[in-house]
Amino acid sequence: MMDKLQELKAEIEKIKKQMAELKSLPEGQRQVEGQRLNALKKNAEAELFKFLNKQKQDEINSKLLNDKLIDITIPSYNGKTRVEGGALHPITKMMRRVVQIAVSMGFHVEDGREIVTEYENFDSLNIAKEHPARDIQDTFYLSNGMLLKTQTSALQNIILKKYGDELRKHGIISAVFPGRCYRNEATDASHEFAFFQCEGVMVGENISISNLIYVMEELISGIFETQIKIRLRPGFFPFTEPSFELDMSCPFCGEAGCPSCKHSGWIEFSGCGMIHKNVLAMGGIDGERYSGFAFGFGLTRLAMMKYGIKDVRLLNSGNIEFLRSIR
Ligand SMILES: [Zn+2]
Repeated sequence: MMDKLQELKAEIEKIKKQMAELKSLPEGQRQVEGQRLNALKKNAEAELFKFLNKQKQDEINSKLLNDKLIDITIPSYNGKTRVEGGALHPITKMMRRVVQIAVSMGFHVEDGREIVTEYENFDSLNIAKEHPARDIQDTFYLSNGMLLKTQTSALQNIILKKYGDELRKHGIISAVFPGRCYRNEATDASHEFAFFQCEGVMVGENISISNLIYVMEELISGIFETQIKIRLRPGFFPFTEPSFELDMSCPFCGEAGCPSCKHSGWIEFSGCGMIHKNVLAMGGIDGERYSGFAFGFGLTRLAMMKYGIKDVRLLNSGNIEFLRSIR
């Protein structure tokens, strides 16, 4: 007896043969018969496809049943106790969350280098030659003259140049760039020599402070999963003009006052402002035609706030007990 597969194949062959013979039929009959055969052929082919699919699935299922499998989701065993599986680091979780929200608002995500030039980290950000931040007391310089970036802003110039053409074509560019930064400083419960920040820029025609306020409100509300209010206070950064310190309403007490907000109802969140014309010019962007805002905040600090971590040093400690406790 023919098996099913051969049967199906033979059926298709038979129809194909009949189709080849169509031309011997009279005109009117040829069309009707042609349509009928076409429909038959389609059905037979679908049957064959279904059969092959099922055959493949059966094959996989029997393999799964018979093979000795390693289930990587089962906790491992170290000889005495079961060891729990891994999990994402709190900063990674926070970074992914911020990026996800930014992407939903149309931002590109950039991943920059940790070793940058002095131009990228300082000059291109309108930071004066004699600015104390350039001091070796604060910055890790390498023997080749480059340095470990002290702020994610070091990527602004690179991004403005990278997306300049897109800006001129589409009228707008926006990007966020999370990353690790380094400062030459003594560590304590709130200071680490390595920490994470996230920076963002949006440049276009008619980009204003109200765009900045809207984006920040959406971003922070998304991070804390509750409607957050923000307020701006005057600030000073060489790379923005005007510059602001941005506070967010306390997500933990709804402005009623709690230890997290030092009973003020507000928490300092970010530095931000309208990108300085010199910075735009160094990024190859016409500051007369385009304007933009930039913001930067500490991802490490944010993770500490969100997960109630009191000592920043724990985050880099590799202490599994601690990491497990904040899962
Ligand atoms: Zn509070």
